[in-house]
Amino acid sequence: MAFDILNFSPSDAEAFMTELGEPAYRGKQLYEWAQKGVPVKDMTTFSKSLRERIAERGDVFLPQARRKLVSAVDGTVKYLFELRDGQLIESVVMKYEHGSTICISSQAGCRMGCRFCASTLGGLIRNLEPSEMLGQIIAAQNDLGIRISNVVMMGIGEPLDNYDNTLRFIMLANEKDGLNIGQRHISVSTCGLADRIRRLADENLQITLSISLHSADNEARKKIMPITNRYSVDELLAACRDYFKKTGRRISFEYTLIGGENDSEAHAQALASKLHDYFGKNMPFHVNLIPLNEVKERGFHRGSRESVDAFKKLLGRLGVNATVRRRLGPDINASCGQLRLNETVN
Ligand code: SAH
Repeated sequence: MAFDILNFSPSDAEAFMTELGEPAYRGKQLYEWAQKGVPVKDMTTFSKSLRERIAERGDVFLPQARRKLVSAVDGTVKYLFELRDGQLIESVVMKYEHGSTICISSQAGCRMGCRFCASTLGGLIRNLEPSEMLGQIIAAQNDLGIRISNVVMMGIGEPLDNYDNTLRFIMLANEKDGLNIGQRHISVSTCGLADRIRRLADENLQITLSISLHSADNEARKKIMPITNRYSVDELLAACRDYFKKTGRRISFEYTLIGGENDSEAHAQALASKLHDYFGKNMPFHVNLIPLNEVKERGFHRGSRESVDAFKKLLGRLGVNATVRRRLGPDINASCGQLRLNETVN
């Protein structure tokens, strides 16, 4: 099977062209065409015969938009992309004043089994390649005619369950002659693979690490997030503390509020006291509250606005400042936990 040229770094592209008997600058050209999402047949600075020789080996396989939904409320765009083997994933582009952010998928499906999330309903199908993660950004940029400046790995899949490809993606997205997206503009979100968080701490990255915590009580968390059976809340928070110590990067804790499940006063107290236990009073972290987005197969409910406000206020009184995440694309099911592998509108 032909390889995807988008997996190339600039030096890989150079080595490849040299191997074809071409001068090194052709490698730079190949790299730049690929980063624009141009298929080999349209790389017009190359002769037809060179294009043919390249295409025998590899090509640029951008994800194809099968459906595009634009929110009438806030302009958020959701794509259903088809990958070269027919697998489907979703990506979401959010426009803010300071630039555009894309939420990309890292796997087709997911095997983490979080009880409230749509993305894991059908289990894991396969990991995405780095090229397919880059491809989501390039395809969206080309379609919208904009530059995307921020990436959050918060779409379908668990990025740390696809560790090597995620890491390579970050390096490739960072390339000066490529997308040139700074590491500080990339967030990796995880449901809590503590051993991988420890590994990530040694990679010397400037990315933002987001932890989907959703409960600080071990038994309660087990009920909604099976990964807790593998890594307890304490193991997870210890890994987060060490991550912060090594990298100096503030961690972002995500807390999805599920009505009657993890939104009581006792849950807020448990959260504040755990965070204080592990991080002291200086709070080198940020807490993001996400009112549940309902997924019809899941049977969980969003609490009232008042319950969300009360949770936030209580956290504040306990010395933990939190923000409530604004819900984007409410009319197109583009919000956290609603991305899935097909065209179902829940
Ligand atoms: N697997 C990674 C990346 C997914 S990020 C992770 O778990 O972090 C998607 C975020 O949305 C996670 O914080 C996830 O827990 C949250 N989420 C999932 N389902 C949700 C739902 N129904 N409502 C609100 N947030 C949800």
